[in-house]
Amino acid sequence: MPDAAGGPLIWRVAVPSPLRKLFDYLPPGGDVGQASQPGVRLRVPFGRGNRIGVLVEVVQGTSLPLNKLKRVATVLDQAPVINADLLEFLSWTADYYHHPLGEVVLGALPRALRRGRPVPEQGTPGWTLSPAGGDLDAEQLRRAPRQKALLEILRRHPAGLSEPELSKRLVSWRAPMRAFLSRHLVQRISIPLLQTSDPDLSQPPSLNPKQQQAAESIFSASREFAAFLLNGVTGSGKTEVYLELINRLALAGRQALVLIPEIGLTPQIVSRFRGRLKAEVVVLHSGLSEKERFEAWLAARDGRASVVIGTRSAVFTPLKNPGIFIVDEEQDPSFKQQDALRYSARDLAVVRAQMCATPVVLGSATPSLETLHNVASGRYTQLNLPLRAGEATPPSLEVVDIRGRSLQSGLSEPLLAALESCVESYEQAILFINRRGFAPSYICRSCGWVAECDRCDANMVLHRPEELLLCHHCASRRSPPAACPRCGSSEFRHQGLGTQRVVETLSARLPRARIYRVDRDSTKRKGAFEALIESMHGGETDIVVGTQMVAKGHHFPNVTLVGVVDADSGLFGVDFRSGERMAQLLLQVAGRAGRGQKPGRVMIQTHHPDHPLLRALVESGYGAFATNALAERAEAALPPFAHMALLRAEAQRLEACERFLSAALECGEGMGVESINLLGPVPAPMARRAGRYRSQLFVESGHRGPLHRFLKSWLSELERLPSARRVRWSLDVDPQEII
Ligand code: ADP
Ligand code: ZN
Ligand code: ZN
Repeated sequence: MPDAAGGPLIWRVAVPSPLRKLFDYLPPGGDVGQASQPGVRLRVPFGRGNRIGVLVEVVQGTSLPLNKLKRVATVLDQAPVINADLLEFLSWTADYYHHPLGEVVLGALPRALRRGRPVPEQGTPGWTLSPAGGDLDAEQLRRAPRQKALLEILRRHPAGLSEPELSKRLVSWRAPMRAFLSRHLVQRISIPLLQTSDPDLSQPPSLNPKQQQAAESIFSASREFAAFLLNGVTGSGKTEVYLELINRLALAGRQALVLIPEIGLTPQIVSRFRGRLKAEVVVLHSGLSEKERFEAWLAARDGRASVVIGTRSAVFTPLKNPGIFIVDEEQDPSFKQQDALRYSARDLAVVRAQMCATPVVLGSATPSLETLHNVASGRYTQLNLPLRAGEATPPSLEVVDIRGRSLQSGLSEPLLAALESCVESYEQAILFINRRGFAPSYICRSCGWVAECDRCDANMVLHRPEELLLCHHCASRRSPPAACPRCGSSEFRHQGLGTQRVVETLSARLPRARIYRVDRDSTKRKGAFEALIESMHGGETDIVVGTQMVAKGHHFPNVTLVGVVDADSGLFGVDFRSGERMAQLLLQVAGRAGRGQKPGRVMIQTHHPDHPLLRALVESGYGAFATNALAERAEAALPPFAHMALLRAEAQRLEACERFLSAALECGEGMGVESINLLGPVPAPMARRAGRYRSQLFVESGHRGPLHRFLKSWLSELERLPSARRVRWSLDVDPQEII
């Protein structure tokens, strides 16, 4: 199909494949009319078969020889499945994370669309009277009783009736309906699938002056891009600010996308939103069925849903008329995807808001150092909610020095006594321990042999009552050995603490207390989280023992005591972010205490009561801690004062990793870019995992622009390295965990 300018028209298509490029095709034969718009799905020949791709652009000419070009086989959509704005955002994402666009674009589609199924008709078919039908005098239908009956039914339902509803009311409605249709007395309509919000909305509290101020500042920027940090302790009323903003924007027909950290939190948050908003709320997370997810996705895309609440992948949800992006608990590590496309949903929400010219709100009680740095450099505006809303007062933090104390399975006497008196006064407590299982080491009494995973550099964790040794990194499991493989002894002991062991100790000490364990094992069952929430609110639980799952978001007004069993693991982590994470987690758990009218108490057990980080946190709060931590990062030229990427390699043999990363290093150094530092290769902190060796190479630069230009050309070189074929490698831009 040569055109006036000479070169043929070429369709550039995003096809899922490991190659970081678009694929050129000749347009399909015949008249494609409207279908040549970016965002439509195509079936294209690819390799020996064919694949589903998405049209990204139509251009003139190609660098490929024309006789190599294949033709698009089928156009699957009459109209784009995603709009140009989302496509642009996905392209930006693919570029920034140096990931193949085909995988990014197809990954953003619901599975049915990815597989080439048609976009379903939205809603249920239904009928309503046309204006002429509305004016019709029923008396005229005297001699057609079925038509008369149908007319009367339709009159009683001015919003229309779906076909199933009609069938319930009138057995044979189709023939009279056809008669009406031929006289233009009725109209075919589509009845939305979604339920409209609960009509009895609960009454919102009136915002306090700080909340009002925050909502006002954000709202007044609602027609432009502006990034806000809404910094407020847990319980200070951030969610109320979101609700106010969303309600006001929804009235103007604009949508809100709300990202939250964990699936476990969605039921609570969603019911709170549904109960308060005069707008349709849909949810998107991995716990939904494919069909539910697809429906929510379509409702967001077509503008029927005003609010989308979801976990990280929801950042890619299409929106018809975006009005605001909200990321709650913005510091949460779960916003970063750790495999395939290693994106940060928090960072992407900011980018998307910028592209859509809307505000973005990052909410947190313990903002990430990145975000605080963005505030300090003037890119984000900080809004503070310094006090707890309502009557609650902030909890006091106490350090419990456990050096030289006798402990009962890791629990000190002061903590046990506090738990006891809490239970006796019919209040509730949360005990936080960051490890599931019974005990993290299983040791031979006579020679000190420790049970390790065969496939990882990690100890096996003893689980009870199953009496199993489990690896928490690769899920290997085995029974404890009958005899020590090193010395043959049959005497073993265990060491360290997990949630199961803490529960056992507590049950022995406080036999009347009702204890609920919350960790990944205990919440596998669907509905387990809801059961916890219910039993907490119903007062059927006295003490919750849990991992970080209990730290997040919950509002249990009767919790007056929070115990942190072991603060030390965070103080000496291998990752430069361990300290930051520990501080955030500590305050988050602490934030569960004293949310009602009774004040809260937080007890933190440690062997290092004088650790500067812990002292700053306890004595002066998160702000002081963050200031110190940022100064340390600046000194060490670590993020957010430098930009980082991590090239990871994994293989069955360590040499394969080393060979590839050394070649990558050499190739990068050969490119002679001055502002780029390459560090490594070094083994990953966990050098073997699930039977594979793991090494990494750091790429670091003071400036983002040069870093990304370097990565782009470097990657195209890496793809060609022979040693690249012997490893599994990946690039992590802005890595969050260096494990
Ligand atoms: P956050 O999101 O910061 O943790 P929430 O918005 O969940 O805080 O508020 C914590 C509690 O305080 C909730 O029960 C909420 O209904 C209540 N609350 C928030 N704002 C107000 C207010 N202005 N007046 C009275 N109660 C409020
Ligand atoms: Zn032994
Ligand atoms: Zn393992």
